[in-house]
Amino acid sequence: TADSASGKSYVIGTDTTFAPFEFRQGGELVGIDMDLLRTIAENQGFEVEIRSLGFDAALQALQSNQVDGVIAGMSITDERRQVFDFSDPYFDSGVQMAVAETNNEITSYEDLEGETVAVKRGSEGEAFADSIADEYGFTVKPLDQSATMYDDVKAGNSVAVFDDYPVLAYGIAQNNGLKAVTEKERGSSYGFAVNKDQNPELIAAFNAGLAELKASGEYQQILDKYLASPE
Ligand code: GLN
Repeated sequence: TADSASGKSYVIGTDTTFAPFEFRQGGELVGIDMDLLRTIAENQGFEVEIRSLGFDAALQALQSNQVDGVIAGMSITDERRQVFDFSDPYFDSGVQMAVAETNNEITSYEDLEGETVAVKRGSEGEAFADSIADEYGFTVKPLDQSATMYDDVKAGNSVAVFDDYPVLAYGIAQNNGLKAVTEKERGSSYGFAVNKDQNPELIAAFNAGLAELKASGEYQQILDKYLASPE
């Protein structure tokens, strides 16, 4: 039909390093988001060209129509729904606080008084930090990449970072020098996004493909590939 994604080609923006959702392995962009999108595209007969832009940059590229869609561990929020249309949710997530592994002083939000906290510009982590910054008396420092945020914490320029807990957990399991110290906050689910009322056929195809991958077990295989603990 005229309004099918099949046979079309789409440019999709993503974050730079947000493992296990998107990251580089031997130069290739891999991760849960990348595998899901590529498998769904194949399954639904459309082509994707993926651009590794950074999270805030990907959202801006979408809003200025430089990309057709974004998949970037992007939380489905009411605020974003004003400007974007989201697919069905494909992963449950939320925000958590982490500190340097060697830091035994910061164990709760109360300990952040007078301190600086790193967040990703434009993220849910930033929104959460902003929402409690006055109450606990800390300064929010927006940075563009998770890796830069973590380095800032390890260098002692920020005492803590707010990021999505599956991403923190993945890095911590790989000994990235951080540890999580609080409970998960602001539960949200990830969705694939397009501009509001644009490319509805792409959302329909993503949802159809996602449902098929769930039914076939491929969705679970993709999660297991990146999340299953090593034997
Ligand atoms: N899930 C968070 C958000 O949507 C962070 C996404 C990211 O850093 N790639 O704001």
